[in-house]
Amino acid sequence: MATPQFHPLRIRDVRPETADALTVSFDVPPALRDAFRFTQGQFVTLKTHIDGEETRRSYSICVGVTDYDRDGELRIGIKRVRGGRFSNFAIETLKPGHEIEVMTPDGRFFTHLNADHAKHYVAFSGGSGITPVLAIIKTTLDMEPTSRFTLVYGNRSVDAIMFAEELEDLKNRYMDRFSLYHVLSDDLQDVELFNGVLDQEKCKAFLSTLLSPEEIDEAFICGPGPMMDAAEAALKEAGVPPKQIHVERFGTPLPQAGAPTIEITESTPAADLELVI
Ligand SMILES: Cc1cc2nc3c(=O)[nH]c(=O)nc-3n(C[C@H](O)[C@H](O)[C@H](O)COP(=O)(O)OP(=O)(O)OC[C@H]3O[C@@H](n4cnc5c(N)ncnc54)[C@H](O)[C@@H]3O)c2cc1C
Repeated sequence: MATPQFHPLRIRDVRPETADALTVSFDVPPALRDAFRFTQGQFVTLKTHIDGEETRRSYSICVGVTDYDRDGELRIGIKRVRGGRFSNFAIETLKPGHEIEVMTPDGRFFTHLNADHAKHYVAFSGGSGITPVLAIIKTTLDMEPTSRFTLVYGNRSVDAIMFAEELEDLKNRYMDRFSLYHVLSDDLQDVELFNGVLDQEKCKAFLSTLLSPEEIDEAFICGPGPMMDAAEAALKEAGVPPKQIHVERFGTPLPQAGAPTIEITESTPAADLELVI
């Protein structure tokens, strides 16, 4: 893998996703297309000066690999963190036409795809943890025509759901291969299983009703720390082998340009980062 490197990229588009989240897409000039080619689930790191201080934060790419190959779209999703330096700056300041330093993609939150696979992938996601998971879902369904994907996505309320429309579109496009379950803590739904938070009991309930653990080939987990711990524990308890469980923690240290790649492992500790879902 090439050493990650910063390049200035022009912002093509900024789109509100929810009251507290937006997506930012970049124009990747033809000369940098290869450098910014990514694997589904990877992230880029943005660098800018905020109040005179250099600030870097990582954001996962939310478009599929095939979308990028088709029209060079590189898009990230940013959710506001209460009191957070970069996320608030980004939501209030970033506009189309602005230029910002973006590091070439990095990260290991993925599995290798193959058009011959006929696998069942499952993801447990919460809040902004959907960002890399969305890229993984889109790419997998596109590149593995006989694989299927189930997403269990936890949020506070309907209006806090990031990528709600895109997820619905995917459900319609891949009717037989994509199952989507929203779990909401504040908005009541008809089915009791879909109410509450994604704690271990809730994840266990999914694994004993709507999901058959023995039919899970690979699982992806990304969201707030407690949700991730709960989903990982429930999957392991249900017998899913640890090497088939992929975890992305948003609280891990940031990569430095020129530094060796950080390997995100199951035991990588999360920083004390409160992600508001
Ligand atoms: C690999 C990776 C991928 C990621 N992908 C995404 C993504 O797709 N989307 C996304 O939204 N986020 C993502 N993140 C998280 C993102 O990088 C930022 O961490 C997040 O946006 C918060 O940054 P911030 O500058 O706004 O908050 P920060 O300023 O870093 O603050 C974070 C929290 O710490 C608190 N805090 C700050 N300073 C102090 C202090 N001195 N004392 C006490 N508390 C303090 C803040 O109040 C806040 O709650 C990812 C992170 C990683 C590592």
